[in-house]
Amino acid sequence: MIFGPPGSGKGTQAKLLRDLLKIPHISTGDMLREHTSHGDGLGVDAESWMRSGRLVPDATVDRLVEERLLQPDCAGGAILDGYPRTIEQARSLKAVLSRLGMSQLVIHLKVDYTKVIVRIAGRRQCARCGLLYNLVANPPKEPGICDRDGEPLVIRDDDRESVVRERLETYERQTSPVLDFLAGSGSKLCEVEGNDASPAEILQRIRDCMVLR
Ligand code: AMP
Repeated sequence: MIFGPPGSGKGTQAKLLRDLLKIPHISTGDMLREHTSHGDGLGVDAESWMRSGRLVPDATVDRLVEERLLQPDCAGGAILDGYPRTIEQARSLKAVLSRLGMSQLVIHLKVDYTKVIVRIAGRRQCARCGLLYNLVANPPKEPGICDRDGEPLVIRDDDRESVVRERLETYERQTSPVLDFLAGSGSKLCEVEGNDASPAEILQRIRDCMVLR
């Protein structure tokens, strides 16, 4: 489970860990964006919450994650990115994991909020494969184009500054208490410094911490 505020590098680290551990990457943000891009009922409902930087109702995301974790490719574990974000979600996850006989390891990426705002302002994402770039720290080889598949890079609607501030407030109010809840209920926790280091260096810190656990 990768935990941290918006812009802390959860998505980048989750993808690196997926490639390293060969287990699925489950991003509730990506799943919800897929529904909004298809314009189905769930997507239409989720879109208004997402556009304003607030959380989609627990029941919706809990169901998405439970269904995904029950897929056979998750039998050997999975990387959760952006879930759980409320104490209710953490409770629901705990119940699902105990039914599946799985335990959880929490990786907390610690970053300064001021850095997050600068980081998100430079964030771009491939419209097709979802690969993330940063114009300063990790730019594409050709401006505006994905290195992997040549598709255009886009700015997410909710990466605009006013929405980012709301997302940080939501994190502070609803999501950061989840960390205490998880630690208090016996989850293993890795605290990883996420400032001023390359994605590869942060991955190494995560690996070191996972081995030490
Ligand atoms: P992310 O890509 O993880 O930053 O998520 C983008 C947006 O999707 C969030 O700002 C929320 O509106 C919504 N979202 C993603 N994950 C969750 C979750 N676990 N619970 C509720 N809303 C979520």
